[in-house]
Formats: sequence, structure tokens, C-alpha cells
Amino acid sequence: NTQDVKVLLLENINVTGQDILREQGYQVEALKASLPEHELIEKIKDVHVIGIRSKTKLTAKVLEHAKNLIVIGCFCIGTNQVDLNYAANAGIAVFNSPFSNSRSVAELVISEIIALARQLADRSMELHKGIWNKVSAGCWEVRGKTLGIVGYGHIGNQLSVLAEAMGMSVIYYDVVNLMSMGTAKQVPTLKALLEGADFVTLHVPELPETQNMISTEQFGYMRKGSYLINASRGTVVDIPALVEAMRSGKIAGAAIDVYPNEPAGNGEYFNKELNAWAEDLRTLKNLILTPHIGGSTEEAQSAIGVEVADALAKYVNEGSTVGAVNMPEVNLRSLTADEPNHVRIIYIHKNVPGVLRRVNEVLGEHNVDKQMTDSRGDVAYLMADISNVNQGDISNLYNSLEDLGSRVRTRVLY
Ligand code: NAD
Repeated sequence: NTQDVKVLLLENINVTGQDILREQGYQVEALKASLPEHELIEKIKDVHVIGIRSKTKLTAKVLEHAKNLIVIGCFCIGTNQVDLNYAANAGIAVFNSPFSNSRSVAELVISEIIALARQLADRSMELHKGIWNKVSAGCWEVRGKTLGIVGYGHIGNQLSVLAEAMGMSVIYYDVVNLMSMGTAKQVPTLKALLEGADFVTLHVPELPETQNMISTEQFGYMRKGSYLINASRGTVVDIPALVEAMRSGKIAGAAIDVYPNEPAGNGEYFNKELNAWAEDLRTLKNLILTPHIGGSTEEAQSAIGVEVADALAKYVNEGSTVGAVNMPEVNLRSLTADEPNHVRIIYIHKNVPGVLRRVNEVLGEHNVDKQMTDSRGDVAYLMADISNVNQGDISNLYNSLEDLGSRVRTRVLY
């Protein structure tokens, strides 16, 4: 019953998200801040859904007390603050919002391409200090120049379209073969991309393979006087190598939004205690430094609210795990009003041999209309719609499934 669903939202979740959950009829409590661990442990005991951002740590110690919790919504990109493995093994699905800010990042990068080509940040900083310095040497239009995109995913794609609209040529490098937007061309190697681009922009995920992907060797391949933009992850660029390449004049400018170590909050210092080379960066000309704001727009915040709240409601009401970060993705067409006496069984279980046979013995007394199952690591997720079920059968069904040794969690939705 939707009125019985208790939702706790922490860290000032965007109202767009709160509204979606209230419209479902859930009991929603929304708090502005995060909670200290002991209060969180108290509160989490009786909620079914929790929504957090990056500050709330949902460790095994906290989740151990979350006896009624079925789903966690991270209203942000990262999910490091949640013990995903513990959650999966406790039958708690976790959702986040990886792509709601792609456009915001792409627009920031577009602004940086022009700003770097025109040394905009330097001129502005000079004039803030009262210095009039009108120069055209080393300043360029971007029309006719080549943008090289490394990682042609959600952000890379958007960028490709926007850059072509400004008259740039676009080449890209990706580990998979992809369809190009407009007249962009995929190149076979990172080296070919670096050799062919006037502006190189990075949009790959943080992976062992992308660590220091741009280092001394790669700066060597880049064109003299070219530019580098990194709004992906701090680990992707070897910063001391960048400092070197900028000092030597090989790289004419760079824009950096992400760093290996980032301050925990606003007002904290960005200095050498955090990253050994922080002071070196501050001395370089035509270097735009921003505090990880690529996705920080009002639009992205409200898109995150909608994306995560929709996923939570779909999970609570229909059991769909599409987009979950710690469960296999399982979904069936929604049940409709003209299917009375139908129930949907969600059976999260340990991924061990023989389970499906036993589950189907239980379900087999009824008519199984459709069924889907998939596994991820140690956990498997089964969804089955069955018909010819009377109200009285429901608790029997539930209890029989709960009695199976492999069970992690059983839900019966109707
Ligand atoms: P995405 O998953 O849509 O695209 C990533 C692309 O990189 C994919 O096409 C993938 O095939 C490709 N790729 C993976 N490994 C590669 C490799 N070794 N070499 C070349 N290509 C490789 O991701 P996205 O949403 O476009 O995000 C890209 C990056 O931007 C991520 O690191 C993300 O964390 C970061 N990001 C930063 C901000 C910010 O605030 N600065 C905001 C959102 C996302």
C-alpha cells in the first residue's frame, strides 16, 4: 500500500524529487542536512526508502539496522558513500543519476574552448587587478579548428554537436566503435587523436586504464600550441606532466575541473597539503581552474531529482531495477487494471544452483504469465507475474518463498 511506504530524504534533495515521491502517496520526511551516525541508525530502522547525496555514509554498520529498507536513492553521480555490496546482499537496491548533468558539462567545455583560445581568464584576472593588456598574439577563433574528444559517451556526444555548430571539425577516440554525430570522425588510436587535434577534451570514466592516460608521452604527441581540457576525473591527467608541457610552451592553455584529491567542502583550501603540485598550477598562464563544477547547474539538480525519484518509485511500485548500480537489471511490462487477480513476485536470492526450480514449484500452483531473472555477483533477482491468485493465497505464497534457504528478500506487489 503506497500510503504505508516511509521515505526519508536527507541533504536537501531537490523539490522536483520530493514532489514525485509525495505524488505517489508515500509518507515523505525531507531534512535539509545529513544526520550524525547514531541518529541515522535510529531513523533508518523504520524507513523503506532513503534518499541521500554525497555526505551521508551508508556503511554496513548503518545498513545493518535498516531492517525495512528496500531501496537507496543517491541523488548525485557517485555511489562510493554506500556499501553497495552489503546493500545487494541485504536485498537493498541502489540507484543514482549518472547522466542528468551531461549537457551542463558539455556547455562548460564549450565555454572553455573559446575562453582558452582567447586567453579570457588571464585578461579578466589582469583587469580585476587594474591592468589593461590588449593582446591579439596567440589568440584565435575556434572556427575551422579541430576538437579531439576522448570518450564519446553522453558528454562527448553533446559536445560533438555543439562544436560542429561553431564551425569546428570533430574527431574522437573511444574504445568501442560508435556512430558519429554529424560529420565527426572516429580515429583508431589516442595517438592519432592527439596528433590531429587543436583542442583535446577528456570524457572517459575513472578506470585503471584511464589513470594518467594523458602524461609526458601523450603531451609529446600533441600539437604545439594546442589546448587540453579535463572535466572527467582527476586521475586521468598526470598533472606534473601538464605543468611541464605548459612551461615548455607545448600546451598553450588548459582547463581543469577535477583533481586527484578534492577539498571536502566549500571554503577549504586547495593547496599543497591536498595535492603536491597545487602551487605550481596557480602560477601558470592561460590555465582555467574550476572547483568540479562541470555538472553544477540548476537544471542538472532538478534533472537528478526527477531521474532518481522516478527510479525509486518504479522500484517500490513495480520492482523494476533498470538503472540500479548493485543489482541485475530486471523489468517486465507494468500490470494493468484489466489484469485482476494478478500479483507480481519479486524474489531476491543468493545466486546458487537449484533456486529457480524450487521457486517455480511454489509459483507453479498458479499461472505464471511472465517471468524474468538475472544475476549480478552473488545476488540474483527474479520477477514473475502470476494470475489466478486470491487475496488468501498471497500470504501463503510469501511465506513459502521466505522459507526457501536461498532467500534474501521477497516482495509481493499487487
Ligand atoms: P559515458 O559512460 O556516457 O561515456 C564514457 C565513454 O568513454 C564511453 O563511450 C566509453 O566507451 C569511453 N571509454 C571508456 N574507457 C575508455 C578508454 N580507455 N579510452 C577511450 N574511451 C573510453 O560517460 P559520460 O557521462 O560522458 O561521462 C564522462 C566522464 O565525465 C566520467 O568520468 C564522469 O565521471 C565525468 N563527469 C564529470 C562531471 C563534472 O562535474 N566535471 C560531471 C559528469 C560527469
